[in-house]
Amino acid sequence: MHKKPIIIIIGSYKKRAILFCILLISLLILSMFIFNISHPVFNNTSSKPIVIDPGHGGIDGGSSHNDLLEKNINLEVSLKLKKILSDKNIRVVMTRDKDISLESKSDLKSSRYRRDLNARKSIIDKNNAELFVSIHVNAHPKNTKAQGVQVIHYPESRDSEHLAKEISDSINKIVFNEFLKTEQIKAEVLTGNFYVLRESKSPGVIVEIGFITTPEDRELIQNEDYQYKMVTAIAQGIIEYIANRN
Ligand SMILES: [Zn+2]
Repeated sequence: MHKKPIIIIIGSYKKRAILFCILLISLLILSMFIFNISHPVFNNTSSKPIVIDPGHGGIDGGSSHNDLLEKNINLEVSLKLKKILSDKNIRVVMTRDKDISLESKSDLKSSRYRRDLNARKSIIDKNNAELFVSIHVNAHPKNTKAQGVQVIHYPESRDSEHLAKEISDSINKIVFNEFLKTEQIKAEVLTGNFYVLRESKSPGVIVEIGFITTPEDRELIQNEDYQYKMVTAIAQGIIEYIANRN
């Protein structure tokens, strides 16, 4: 007469314990999703920033076609890239966020052009950047059929080469294959001995997002959807680079 109730009590206690464990595990999994524990790198807003460098600015328009100036497209695209990275909790520093040139921020005794580039390098170095991306628009006045994206890195930097490949792969997938549905135009990885690429302490690349001198590309680089797909792809490439390196 005494045993039966005891068995019932033990049975229900075990059930409750199991239910409690299931609830605890569910809560743990839920909190991992809420706090994004699976990507700790991108949750840390105090980690090293990514520097976005919109090429040219102010007195320096960069390449042009009639009244279309490279410097303005570079800034538009760079601000979109900043937004997309910030939305992913990645800390961003801009070399410029308005239409200015940067030579006054350098005390180098050199040409205006070199001081402007030196100021960009100093911003990258002072912020101890995780990496940097310089946004530019290409020009090929002699070949108005030249199309596509170039991702340029300094030849001696393995990290920069790795970053360039990740960004280029991502652009080919997201911009060309999925968005424009073409395999004719591509993003290619090139090397270049450019001042900011060579002199900066952090790995980095120049992304030339299209040719201002080619009618088809000229339309694309001004197109909001193209710009949005481009920054989505660059951001994805950056994230892949950081994830694979860690
Ligand atoms: Zn440029």
